[in-house]
Amino acid sequence: MERPFVVIYLIGVCLAGAIRVIQIRKYPRSEKPQVPVLEIWLMLLWFLASQVLPMVYAFRPILTFADYPLPALLSGLGVGVFGFALWLLQQSHIDLGRNWSPIAEIQTSQVLVTQGVYRYVRHPMYTAHLLWGLAQALLIANWLVGCSGLIAFVFFCCVRIPKEEALMQTQFGQAYADYQQTVGAVLPRIYHIVKVRIKQSR
Ligand code: SAH
Repeated sequence: MERPFVVIYLIGVCLAGAIRVIQIRKYPRSEKPQVPVLEIWLMLLWFLASQVLPMVYAFRPILTFADYPLPALLSGLGVGVFGFALWLLQQSHIDLGRNWSPIAEIQTSQVLVTQGVYRYVRHPMYTAHLLWGLAQALLIANWLVGCSGLIAFVFFCCVRIPKEEALMQTQFGQAYADYQQTVGAVLPRIYHIVKVRIKQSR
């Protein structure tokens, strides 16, 4: 195999799938969620970009005109980024527990989770997928196959996050507004975290 980092990427994809299946099975749902049509298309686009395209690229010399040289050090960094993304995916599933859903909705037993990795970002699962996209770009040295997953997931976030947050705001009111004030959406607000840590140590 000429492209060892592409193979590492595909192994990471399989691990992500295993994490998701194991975590989802812990909380079986009685009814099938109705995914909005736009989100189905966006998820499909992301699936093609992050999984189907890299798989084909690993075994067939397609789109090679868009290949670029990438230092092994950056590819090594990609392995670390993907490893962290997988940990974050697993941890956010554990912390969110039965509140997880494939769609933006408020379930009957829903509570507001602000602990665990949700102390640092409001959407750690989406952060994990964005890091996965970054790892794809670092592990697959091709402008089209490497960057497509990240671009597709950014589109998904642009549609999903405002919708999810509007629902959370309606359900949890001031508690969610306070949470939004102090915790970043997909990136941690380092300044706020440091301020809280200093306050706690006094
Ligand atoms: N956006 C979150 C969760 C994705 S799962 C993340 O990236 O980690 C989507 C479901 O999670 C939605 O139906 C929403 O109701 C629920 N959700 C999102 N944030 C939540 C929170 N802080 N506490 C409880 N449920 C949450």
